[in-house]
Amino acid sequence: MRRVVTFHYTLRDPAGRVLDSSAGGEPITYLEGAGQIIDGLDARLRSAEAGAKQRVQVPAAEAYGERDAAQVQQVKRAVLPLDGELQLGAQFQAGPDRHAPVVTVVAIDGEDVTLDANHPLAGVDLAFDVEIVAARAATAEELSHGHAHGGDGTGHCQ
Ligand code: ZN
Repeated sequence: MRRVVTFHYTLRDPAGRVLDSSAGGEPITYLEGAGQIIDGLDARLRSAEAGAKQRVQVPAAEAYGERDAAQVQQVKRAVLPLDGELQLGAQFQAGPDRHAPVVTVVAIDGEDVTLDANHPLAGVDLAFDVEIVAARAATAEELSHGHAHGGDGTGHCQ
């Protein structure tokens, strides 16, 4: 049985820095095995029941992947879709498609700009402090759509 799970989380890196959190906002709802959350977290929450609080460690390879040196490239400043000052650490989408990777400016040398298209969390082992708010069987409609329809299964899809 695939479930729809609703949870709150706080995500930390190995140094304990908080990278992201749902605290104070809406919890996340997902359909198991549907790619709605990172695979390594999905897999580790399969037996978690409503009310459970646990720390879930997800190695980088099962989260945003290992860093790939081939994703670091040097380009000319003139080709970049940027207005104004170019700053180290600036992030922008590499193309007009909304699924285009986000690249980060990691070096600037005159007209040469080095861009890193690795996900900012590539190579980072993640620790999630998770609280399961609810867990229920997925509806037939959710299974056929491949995603959750909100906490009670009656929400509409986007
Ligand atoms: Zn749907």
